[in-house]
Amino acid sequence: MAELRIIKNSGREATLPDGVVEDFKKSLRGRLLRPGDDGYEGARKIWNGMIDRRPALIARCAGAADVARCVDFARAENLVLAVRGGGHGVAGNAVCDGGLMIDLSVMRTVRVDPARRTARADAGVTWGEFDHETQAFGLATPGGQVSTTGIAGLTLGGGWGWLARKYGLASDNLLSVDIVTADGKLRTASDTEHADLFWGVRGGGGNFGVVTSFEYRLHPVGPVVGGFVFYPFAIARDVLQRYRELTRKAPDELAADAALLTLPDGTKVAGIAACYCGTVAEGERLLGPLKTFGTPVVDQLGPTSYISVQTMLDASYPSGLQQYWKSSFLREVDDKAIDTMIAHCTAPASPMCHGLLEFQAGWCRGSRRSSRHRVRGARRPARFPGSGVVRRSGRGQAVCAVGARVLGSHGAVLHRWRVRQLSRKRRGRGGRAGPGGLREREVSTTARPEGAVRSQESLPPEPEHQAARRDAVSITRRGRIAAFDRPAA
Ligand SMILES: Cc1cc2nc3c(=O)[nH]c(=O)nc-3n(C[C@H](O)[C@H](O)[C@H](O)COP(=O)(O)OP(=O)(O)OC[C@H]3O[C@@H](n4cnc5c(N)ncnc54)[C@H](O)[C@@H]3O)c2cc1C
Repeated sequence: MAELRIIKNSGREATLPDGVVEDFKKSLRGRLLRPGDDGYEGARKIWNGMIDRRPALIARCAGAADVARCVDFARAENLVLAVRGGGHGVAGNAVCDGGLMIDLSVMRTVRVDPARRTARADAGVTWGEFDHETQAFGLATPGGQVSTTGIAGLTLGGGWGWLARKYGLASDNLLSVDIVTADGKLRTASDTEHADLFWGVRGGGGNFGVVTSFEYRLHPVGPVVGGFVFYPFAIARDVLQRYRELTRKAPDELAADAALLTLPDGTKVAGIAACYCGTVAEGERLLGPLKTFGTPVVDQLGPTSYISVQTMLDASYPSGLQQYWKSSFLREVDDKAIDTMIAHCTAPASPMCHGLLEFQAGWCRGSRRSSRHRVRGARRPARFPGSGVVRRSGRGQAVCAVGARVLGSHGAVLHRWRVRQLSRKRRGRGGRAGPGGLREREVSTTARPEGAVRSQESLPPEPEHQAARRDAVSITRRGRIAAFDRPAA
């Protein structure tokens, strides 16, 4: 076989001798795919059809030893490295051009301990698979709202779902991770082992190493009252105002989204999707009025299983479409916001475009209850889409992950992802966004004329964050390995 063309971390093109690739292949338990191999084309594809990258090598890792071997190989050859969990990252960082892609999608075991109410899951597991195993025991942990999303990227980025207002984010329910850091060592990180690293992986994204398995705390969940109800688009204003009323006084057990969208038959609708995870009687009392203020086009809201709520939006998010998502925060859904949303969704660019409101208020309360991590002084989040401070480290830092979707559209060319880092100079007071207090790191993917996409980070991590990770080695969002070499603070 010919030499393999690769792209080094420096961005330079180079080649890898066939013998080096063959030796690497033999050292793995899983398959190593090169361009042209059976399965290569399928393995390089991810959920967002806009991402079209061609790794030089795809390692379908069979376990943590394969992952460690890949990290060693990438470091030795100075290769660009990408990590794929469930492949739902909209920015497409799970796949790289000319580098090594670590594909975890083969690693899919979930082990539930019903007595301890914990579950350990491999990094290639999706939320559908995780819920399937845990619900067999009537248990669950907060996950995403679409069951095909990977547990890995979602948990590492925070993780918002129907249970989060009651039980916190997915990352708040993390008890430990097994993680291969950039020195190729497999470590366990938890509150008691490598605690700084553990703090980093709970919301910090995939920058700290390759997580091979996640251990979660579980809660008794189900049956729930959930589903969706759609009304004609003509009364969208009324629907959104009722959504505002519903969420204004909502108990922690209730999570609700509002959406303006087009059904597969072309009918434009305004709808509310909800999940109440308390008692069925109380859920029916709270959500019942949503079904009766007009004549619904579709009504699927009622007592049901948690799994049915977790899968009810799957069909709306099929794999392979070209996706562009954009999101923002609202403290209140005032009339101006409602009118703006209706104006944007009245004549969408394509039937797949939709506007979405996610009611995320109060998940600091859920976090407080469910996490042993301290959140003293944490700022309450905005009431509507978006978030506030999740947690603070012992060093008085706070991380705020912006994750709410307001508009999603189909076929556009720009994606922008934002991670806000709130830096606190003094301990004991809530972090405040504002001049001097807020540094913003943007990870964006911009369109080039020829349609290719490029990632960029506009600001380096803050020095305090580097110190917090002083022992750690990092894999940056661009898939490159970097080692933090600052001395201990
Ligand atoms: C249809 C859809 C619905 C969604 N719904 C929700 C929702 O309800 N709530 C919510 O919070 N988010 C939601 N998201 C956002 C989702 O959580 C993120 O896109 C998440 O990153 C996806 O994780 P993944 O493992 O599937 O993706 P991937 O693309 O595989 O990974 C995403 C990022 O994490 C890194 N990564 C993946 N696995 C690992 C690992 N094991 N170790 C280190 N780094 C890793 C990747 O390198 C990449 O940078 C949704 C996304 C989609 C496409």
